[in-house]
Amino acid sequence: MSDHTAETIAAIASAPGAAGVGVVRVSGPKVPAIAQTLLGRVPQARHAHFAAFRDAAGALLDRGLLLHFPAPASYTGEHVLELQGHGSAVLLDLLLRRVCELGARLARPGEFTERAFLNGKLDLAQAEAVADLIAARSQAGARAALQSMEGVFSRKVEVLLQLLIALRVHIEAAIDFPEEEIDFLADPGIGQQLQVVRSELAELLREAQRGLRLNDGLRVAIIGRPNAGKSSLLNALAGSDRAIVNAAAGTTRDVLRESLSLDGIALELADTAGLRETDDEVEREGVRRAHGELQRADVALLVTDAEHAIADLTLLSAVPASVERLVLINKIDRDHAHAHHESREGALWLWASAKTGEGLDTLREHLKRLAGAGSGEGAFSARRRHVQALEQVQAHLDHAASVLTHSRAGELAAEELRHAQHALGEITGSYSSDDLLGAIFGSFCIGK
Ligand code: GDP
Repeated sequence: MSDHTAETIAAIASAPGAAGVGVVRVSGPKVPAIAQTLLGRVPQARHAHFAAFRDAAGALLDRGLLLHFPAPASYTGEHVLELQGHGSAVLLDLLLRRVCELGARLARPGEFTERAFLNGKLDLAQAEAVADLIAARSQAGARAALQSMEGVFSRKVEVLLQLLIALRVHIEAAIDFPEEEIDFLADPGIGQQLQVVRSELAELLREAQRGLRLNDGLRVAIIGRPNAGKSSLLNALAGSDRAIVNAAAGTTRDVLRESLSLDGIALELADTAGLRETDDEVEREGVRRAHGELQRADVALLVTDAEHAIADLTLLSAVPASVERLVLINKIDRDHAHAHHESREGALWLWASAKTGEGLDTLREHLKRLAGAGSGEGAFSARRRHVQALEQVQAHLDHAASVLTHSRAGELAAEELRHAQHALGEITGSYSSDDLLGAIFGSFCIGK
């Protein structure tokens, strides 16, 4: 038996008091013995037993249900015991102590799920989805996390991995026969195979980016000159849709944030200070933060009005190319204009009023769409590290394609594909360092 399964772990696995029932979960080799002691006989697998939980002296601690899941058919893949008692923090604590007296130790955060991963019950992306499901702040986010937990994302990664491996085998075979290498690499089949992998990857990257937005919320950076109506817009959007509010107003030059849920879709809005060049020390700090906000954003929303639109458009030059652009021509009530929208030069322009709310529904609908709403049954959640890994894979594949086309350098292409495979494997954990595992499971709550 490997180290990680040698010990038996235990934790309170439910919020005590919440629903009147509390659960102590135990996993590891000592579970059958602990179960037998608590029940007074050998428990039947996967049956609910009504038990009197007693301390070492035989005094009654609580009465409740005992469930025994022998390995490997359990969440962790080890012997698992679940004790359901009354949802009192005091009673649950006594029960947990009793279990520890019988040979278990307290579990670390995420240790049950970590064991499930180490025992091959879940891969890393699925394990992360367990935490994301628990932490989901929107219905769409929860649905997406459930899909990832069910392995939807992992299976797509696996398909891509197999394609990549087949391609590697093909190229490495060519390298092993150097006299034929040039001819072999000239085979259009290799180029086509690589093209298939690249387009599959591009599709998976798009889906993962959407999954990240479903998980973390769409990050919208609101930019514009002072008095354009940025704060008014933020308030209007937050208004009745306000679900979770954490407006942290510092000085007026700080970034002001709102988290809100639009019909079950999470949005993170940041109202940035100006983006203008300035000599003022404090203002310059605000500008620096605004630029930082834009780097992290999914969408840049420029707020302006009919009078200043042309001059304000220069602010869009600070927006990174990968960030979606929206231009809001605000204050239509003042200018007696009508709400409408149109596409211009790669940005959507909307005419609206933050004051009267006219035209804001179109903005809401558009933001919801960008956030991944209506993305269908199969939409899965993803984390930033997954998207970064896929971006790395893309960079390696691009490089492989370039060396194959320009120099027919089989060795170099094979090396790039090896790196690509490695980056892809990090998503599901087929390659993972202890540091990464520590960071991932350390962020779970205890008992999971
Ligand atoms: P910020 O500096 O960009 O955050 O702008 P504010 O939200 O503080 O708004 C500046 C001024 O414009 C305030 O007096 C608002 O009441 C006004 N304002 C904002 N939006 C509208 C609008 O849609 N119509 C009209 N008439 N005034 C607006």
